Amino acid sequence: MDTDAVDIGSGFAGLYALYKLREAGLSVRVFERGDGVGGTWYWNRYPGARVDIQSVEYMFTKFPDLEQEWDWTELMPAQAEIERYLNWVTDRLELRDRITFRTAVRGATYDDQTATWRVETDRGEQVVARFVVAATGCLSAPIEPAIAGLGRFTGDSLFTNRFPRDGYDFTGRRVAVIGTGSSGVQSIPVIAKQAAELFVLQRPAASPLPSPNRPLRPNELDELKAQYPDIRSAQWASPVGTARFGAVSFLGRRQLTNILDASWDERIAKLDELGFAGCFAWADVFFDVEANEAATRLYAEAIKRVVEDPRTAEDLVPHYPFGCKRVIIDEGYFETFNRDNVHLVNLRRNPISSIVPSGIQRRDDLLALDVIVYATGFDAMTGPLSRIDIRGRGGVSLREVWAESPKAYLGLGVAGFPNLFTVTGPGSPSVLTNMVTSIEHHVEWITACIGHLRAHGHRSIEADPAAQDDWAEHVPTFAGPIQVHPSCTSWYLGANVPGKTRYYMPYAGGLTRYMASCDEVVAHGYQGFVLT
Ligand code: NAP
Repeated sequence: MDTDAVDIGSGFAGLYALYKLREAGLSVRVFERGDGVGGTWYWNRYPGARVDIQSVEYMFTKFPDLEQEWDWTELMPAQAEIERYLNWVTDRLELRDRITFRTAVRGATYDDQTATWRVETDRGEQVVARFVVAATGCLSAPIEPAIAGLGRFTGDSLFTNRFPRDGYDFTGRRVAVIGTGSSGVQSIPVIAKQAAELFVLQRPAASPLPSPNRPLRPNELDELKAQYPDIRSAQWASPVGTARFGAVSFLGRRQLTNILDASWDERIAKLDELGFAGCFAWADVFFDVEANEAATRLYAEAIKRVVEDPRTAEDLVPHYPFGCKRVIIDEGYFETFNRDNVHLVNLRRNPISSIVPSGIQRRDDLLALDVIVYATGFDAMTGPLSRIDIRGRGGVSLREVWAESPKAYLGLGVAGFPNLFTVTGPGSPSVLTNMVTSIEHHVEWITACIGHLRAHGHRSIEADPAAQDDWAEHVPTFAGPIQVHPSCTSWYLGANVPGKTRYYMPYAGGLTRYMASCDEVVAHGYQGFVLT
């Protein structure tokens, strides 16, 4: 064996896994395809990229000394600041020399005889390890949009999820952004301020909520630092790993009134009081399709209050239930459509036919362009590992297993793939929570598990197929009619990837309940896993 563990990736998960496993006495090799650490925060450096969780909760929570030394400047910091934070942590914890950069893992094959993995990189290196920790992230496999003629454009093509390191100057240019998920909605207001003309090519309308972001006031961070122990306790007691307002916790205080019991005037009063958030400050909106439709009508009213052109305002109203997709936190998105240089292009009315050398050909017209920005999303959760040729016992391919059904027991391991740990894998709360807390929980669980195996002389651990099936049936039971609504094209369901099995992948039962399940499995001697 060359090393005890191979850790794929060096974002929050990869860095914490390296730290914890090294602390537990294991030798670890980390392979990272980028030339720096950061994962998501390394690749997604598009204009306007920022986190949708508050800074003081979007950091490692288990380093009480270290956290006092790091100074956030904003409530919800931008990509560059988070990337700086992760580089700082890497250096303070002396992790960098264990990471091999510019090296992607191409394949991994399990050897039943030795209970080891042979990991192969795109640079031809082969490493034999007992354990593989897949810290590959949930949103790291970009999808190529299925548009004819993609390579024919003679202007500049940019992708939000692998944006040029040195940025891009849109000044004086005719630009199109395709896609109105979080990446599109965040980049559009920033690009609009530079570009000569900006065309926003919208298939589904977004339903963002305005960001509370602002610089932290003088002394505010000092006060927050003094409260870090309480903030951490609140985070770990929260079902989403964050107790402050953000994309996964925006519901905030518990609502008592149903929108369906309220008159139109009462609904409007809520809008007057809370703005866009007033559309969703009701008890029934996320559980009842009819209530959700009522909220969307109120949302349409909120858009009309901001967007001056009535046709644009109408085109910006979503046609799918609010909450079926990840909530987007925006900074000035709707206001952007009042600029003279910004044009909403409704693809539902006039779809894209193809990309042509001079721009984008739609069914009824041609958009002549200098730049196309693709904000078209990811093959989420299963995509990152399915793109690696992973072969478990008997040469079985993980890609093929997951093509049929994206299962993982507790989201941590897959039957037939011993000693492969999937950090925040499908079947765990991951993307429905603050990723940092979910990552910390998984990495600590994995470290303790490996410690247990070593202490008891076991060579391998593997999910039992029956336990995995039970878990896979259990997970979608938490997703309600809004999340699985037929009109929903969310990546939670895999519905944004042509041909992907439609299955609600994240565990929506809450982090605290999920952690209790993981504890119970351990307390019963790793029930549902087979140890050899
Ligand atoms: P996304 O939410 O999947 O949005 C992709 C957009 O592109 C959708 O509007 C999609 O429409 C559209 N699209 C895809 N292919 C298209 C085509 N061929 N023609 C026209 N439109 C097309 O992807 P994302 O914006 O990158 O965000 C993904 C996730 O990353 C987010 O949900 C969030 O969890 C995370 N993220 C977070 C932040 C943050 O924290 N601040 C920022 C960015 C991303 P359809 O829905 O019709 O497919």
